[in-house]
Amino acid sequence: MPATNMHTTMHHTSSVLAEADRLMVVCNSCRYCEGLCAVFPAMEMRRIFTDGDLNYLANLCHGCGACYFDCQFSPPHEFEVNVPGALAKARIESYRTYAWPRFLSGLFARNGVAVGTIAALSALVFLAGFFVSYDPDVLQKIYSGPGAFYVFMPHNIMVLIFGAAFLYAIVSIAIGALSFWRDIGEPVAALSAPAPLWQATVDAAQLKYLDGGEGGCASAEDQPKDQSKDRRKIFHHLTFYGFALCFASTVVATAYHYLLGREAPYAWYDLPVILGTLGGLGLVIGPVGLFTAKSKRDPVLLDPGSYGMDVAFIFILSATGLTGLALLVLRDTSFMSTLLALHLGVVFALFLLLPYGKFMHGIYRFLALARYAKERGTHQPASE
Ligand code: SF4
Ligand code: SF4
Repeated sequence: MPATNMHTTMHHTSSVLAEADRLMVVCNSCRYCEGLCAVFPAMEMRRIFTDGDLNYLANLCHGCGACYFDCQFSPPHEFEVNVPGALAKARIESYRTYAWPRFLSGLFARNGVAVGTIAALSALVFLAGFFVSYDPDVLQKIYSGPGAFYVFMPHNIMVLIFGAAFLYAIVSIAIGALSFWRDIGEPVAALSAPAPLWQATVDAAQLKYLDGGEGGCASAEDQPKDQSKDRRKIFHHLTFYGFALCFASTVVATAYHYLLGREAPYAWYDLPVILGTLGGLGLVIGPVGLFTAKSKRDPVLLDPGSYGMDVAFIFILSATGLTGLALLVLRDTSFMSTLLALHLGVVFALFLLLPYGKFMHGIYRFLALARYAKERGTHQPASE
């Protein structure tokens, strides 16, 4: 047992958080890594670590691995300091802690199975709905031009079904986010302060701490060879901006429909199609690249329990991008009805599953960055 356990004073609700506490006590005495990222300056503002503090630090960590490779106390040293590995485990556990409704928090545990099953069921329901409602010759007929999609599902029904699923996702995510925000010690009113939110937006958009921030990740000569080839930042940007562009495409298409009276599908040069095509490509390339990059990382930096969630994340985002792109390319053929049902089924599952998968790391990380921006402006590090 590492000698540093004698310094741990807080009771924690899990062994994962107890281990994170032990490491933060070691790091707070050492402070060698304080220039690497936001986690260490935030840690230095504290002498003791509550569960909320540790969940905050865990979500502030971007898992770059720099502090593991720099650490003189990492295994085989008896202190066994592995901050990225411990915070990765705490991060995954925090998603379950703040999930709403609580009885669905188990979806995180077997995320790969849950996402695969729900996505397949959802696609099957939409396919069955189309095949039960229409004769085969109607389904195979070629429809093109404005309103072609709504032959199989009226626009108002589509809005009702997807609006309800989206509203459920927003409410679940908001309740989880508020629970996290309160648990890390911030009042709800603090969310109205624009400066920390703006700083968090800038830091998140740039993924500032994924490579160790301004202090520099482990320098090229310090890193193992495979770390210097890590392309996670590029693939993360492709995934995030791909998702954002697809969302923007939907918003613009909705504005076209209700404000301009123009019905989908649109020409290839119309804004919703351009945004959706670029977004779809990002959603296919980004998650696959992220997974490939992750599979090459040193396993000690990762939580082995997150493998299913990572695969599920790739699957649902890539399936959304692929079915959307296939629908775009083949919309003027007899495959349109089948591809439309598949795409709608996958997107419906994506909406329902957003609060119970890897997507939540973006929400909690943004809030952790906002808190860091806020306290960086109001706190000085606790003295040693
Ligand atoms: S990770 Fe290691 S080197 Fe860095 S602050 Fe902690 S104990 Fe010190
Ligand atoms: S962001 Fe990188 S340097 Fe900072 S705690 Fe996480 S793994 Fe360590």
